[in-house]
Amino acid sequence: MISTRFNIPTASTGAMLRREVAQASPVGIEADHYTAQGGFVPDELVLRIVATWLNDHAEAFILDGFPRTVAQAEALQQELHVRQSALDVAFLLELPESEIRRRVLHRLTCDACGATFGINLHGLKAGDACPKCGGALSHRKDDTEEVLSHRLAVYRAKTLPIADFYESRGLLRRHDANISPEKLFETFSRDLSAGEAE
Ligand code: AMP
Repeated sequence: MISTRFNIPTASTGAMLRREVAQASPVGIEADHYTAQGGFVPDELVLRIVATWLNDHAEAFILDGFPRTVAQAEALQQELHVRQSALDVAFLLELPESEIRRRVLHRLTCDACGATFGINLHGLKAGDACPKCGGALSHRKDDTEEVLSHRLAVYRAKTLPIADFYESRGLLRRHDANISPEKLFETFSRDLSAGEAE
């Protein structure tokens, strides 16, 4: 929604890695080892993917799921500096862990376009056709209780410290994500429009 409304290209490192895994490329084969268990793919590998994508998008971009470690955040600053670009803002979406679990364990993802849907919210089930592109909907293989618990532990240990990194640079904005996608989009839009007006 944000990408469309503000006409800013977006990339999700998770989606990029899943594409590599599906293609069984050398990067995908290496990444699968980590993503299947809910650990982080090595910084060097993710940075290579992001740097390649930024070659065509350094002027305006939204990165989703990146950076996930302080080392990635530092490397991103460096990559952008070289391209004479910089981050305007880093959003931290806050959600109680029980709600994260509920959403992830009831999530269906389209194998073709990557769109996501809530089983209850959208009345869909695994195997149904994606309402957006007709592709097949399925549960991601890392959307299980066990792998999710590990992902949350890794998130707390390695990703949460990034909040301080961006806060100390005056870039962090926190948003309560425990609201509907439409309401969250409204708060994002207000935030981003205020930035455009400055
Ligand atoms: P996501 O689609 O954002 O939930 O990411 C799925 C999985 O891809 C994660 O659990 C990690 O294994 C891997 N991944 C995605 N982004 C990154 C990143 N920035 N650094 C390391 N691993 C990542």
